[in-house]
Amino acid sequence: MFSTEDSEFDRHHLWHPYTSMLNPLPCYPVASAQGCCITLETGQQLVEGMSSWWAAIHGYNHPDLNRALSEQMVKMSHVMFGGLTHRPAVALGRQLLAIVPQGLSKIFLADSGSVSVEVAMKMAMQFWSGGQQRKQKFLTLRGGYHGDTYAAMSVCDPDNSMHSLWKGYLPEHLFVPVPQCAFDHPWQESEADALRAAFAEHHHSLAAVIVEPIVQGAGGMRFYHPQLLKRIRELCDRYDVLLIADEIATGFGRTGKMFACEHAKITPDILCVGKGLTGGTMTLAATITTDRVAKGISNSPAGCFMHGPTFMGNPLACAVATESLKILAKGDWSQQVTRIEQQLKTGLYPLREHKNVNDVRVLGAIGVVECHRPVAMAEIQAFFVNQGVWIRPFGKLIYLMPPYVISEEQLAKLMAAIFNAVEQDALFIPPDSF
Ligand code: PMP
Repeated sequence: MFSTEDSEFDRHHLWHPYTSMLNPLPCYPVASAQGCCITLETGQQLVEGMSSWWAAIHGYNHPDLNRALSEQMVKMSHVMFGGLTHRPAVALGRQLLAIVPQGLSKIFLADSGSVSVEVAMKMAMQFWSGGQQRKQKFLTLRGGYHGDTYAAMSVCDPDNSMHSLWKGYLPEHLFVPVPQCAFDHPWQESEADALRAAFAEHHHSLAAVIVEPIVQGAGGMRFYHPQLLKRIRELCDRYDVLLIADEIATGFGRTGKMFACEHAKITPDILCVGKGLTGGTMTLAATITTDRVAKGISNSPAGCFMHGPTFMGNPLACAVATESLKILAKGDWSQQVTRIEQQLKTGLYPLREHKNVNDVRVLGAIGVVECHRPVAMAEIQAFFVNQGVWIRPFGKLIYLMPPYVISEEQLAKLMAAIFNAVEQDALFIPPDSF
């Protein structure tokens, strides 16, 4: 049982994401999770709408994932990857290369999404380190999010990630405006003007462009037009700049394609994946490159890529990731995501008419209700828990990205809770306070 003392200890001694240590937002103790349900220590059951931040794509406590973990655990939980290798890493590598966009062939196993972004950026810099031009800058879109470590932060939206706080410490990179042309709107060629201008002016110093393909996640939950991604690829080719696709959130089916790059039929030079890679069971990510990038790095003055985390290629994480990819390989995810997309569209689009709602967007298994006012976090969280759902909004955004195995009934319950929430003015910050 989770006692009052446990709660107090947690409140006073454990940091939770994005909340004050002096006056933290409440945390709800969880006893267990099964399928698409989280069971609180109080016994209350919540339908899971977040997949633990895009990760638990197959639902919780999946028997195949558990089996993969326990079978591996008794062989070895971990050995260093320097000078040693093992079957779980090789099996995972094979499964990954079978599904990633064609042309990607060299895999660096990293410990988390942010680290895989650090690795990708460092690879791009090292790729250019031996040549005539020392190209060391990055170009990206405003409204992006790539993680919380330093290099990753430097390419996140400058306002959201408060670059002003780190001025003088964070490297300064180049940003073009937030994409305006929505995924399903007619393409406007002028949308790529800012990119064309940035390439023309700065290509000599650009190591890479880094973007979240199609879906800008934590930076605003926007879905932009595939043609923009196509233009970015074309400009990268024309000016010889690398393209890093951060598919940490979008990878493994979330947008209706295995990878969001497929909406634009492009292959990046460097791909980052994480989150759903292990079906949400363990932390693991990967940075995957073309032969050209790997060759360039290996021919650079250092002679190798200068990175090697302690838990690189962790066998437990590799074994469970391989199993997660096997579940995806069976193919059910595609129909599941299509069904979720249909239900989200039918269920959430009527909210477009609501006075408290600015926009509703749906793509694949992602549903976003953008409100006019930011939510009152503690109040709306308590409201959702009372409704028997786990939905964690941020800012003006209430959104769903459920496990692919969610039932029609469970998804209907999540959407009903959102309908009820937007009715309650008290769950939003008053207009004169933001
Ligand atoms: N890139 C994107 C697009 C993400 O959504 C996230 C996580 N929200 C990250 C990078 C960072 O991943 P992690 O939290 O595993 O470090």
